[in-house]
Amino acid sequence: MIILKTKREIEIMREAGRLVAASHELVRQHIKPGITTKELDQIVEDFLRSQNAIPTFKGYSGFPYSICASVNEEVVHGFPSNRKLEEGDIISVDIGATFGGYVGDSAKTFFVGNVDDEKRRLVEVTRQSFYEGIKFAKESYRLSDISHAIQEYVEKAGFSVVRDYVGHGVGKKMHESPQIPNFGKPGRGPRLQEGMVLAIEPMINAGTYNVRVLENNWTVVTVDGKPSAHYEHTVAITDGEPMLLTVL
Ligand code: MG
Ligand code: MG
Repeated sequence: MIILKTKREIEIMREAGRLVAASHELVRQHIKPGITTKELDQIVEDFLRSQNAIPTFKGYSGFPYSICASVNEEVVHGFPSNRKLEEGDIISVDIGATFGGYVGDSAKTFFVGNVDDEKRRLVEVTRQSFYEGIKFAKESYRLSDISHAIQEYVEKAGFSVVRDYVGHGVGKKMHESPQIPNFGKPGRGPRLQEGMVLAIEPMINAGTYNVRVLENNWTVVTVDGKPSAHYEHTVAITDGEPMLLTVL
């Protein structure tokens, strides 16, 4: 069952989302060669707690950190660590914040210094695929119209869509119904309706879409070792244009 949110609930989710966006800005300011992903994790945790928000990921199904920090071939759920970022890396940072009882969820992939053309294009196509998808995040379309638009854009650009992980509804809980694949035929799934709040999050690989999970039982990597990028916002369906909640 998809839980519809009232306008008042969406206002609270907008505040949660604003804190997620501010966290991403902090990360952006601190990313440079030499910083560790654990330092980024601490910066975000300290900021969220200072704003009376809870880092949603910490303790979620046992996840030990406040952010997911996925470098290069890591797709999602990377553990912050003492690994120092290096010039030419890309890093996907996924952040969740709970504020007023509601969750905001957003991910972005950042460049570390100068990045080669393939990685740069991968990150740009991943970001744009989200915006291609949300052209269909409106009443009268169906859920898989979003999925299909993302896949079509990504594959035309020569990249591949991860199959094993998908977007999701979001509200009081981080993961609510429905699941939102970034691939599939159009015209399937529930009809979109005002009050739905969806975390739409293409995970895009430069090579094959096949992934595997590392021994820590969390971190997902590409099987071919090629880079991966991630772009996610929490989006409210309205009676008009989609509303991005995880922006400043
Ligand atoms: Mg996320
Ligand atoms: Mg998500």
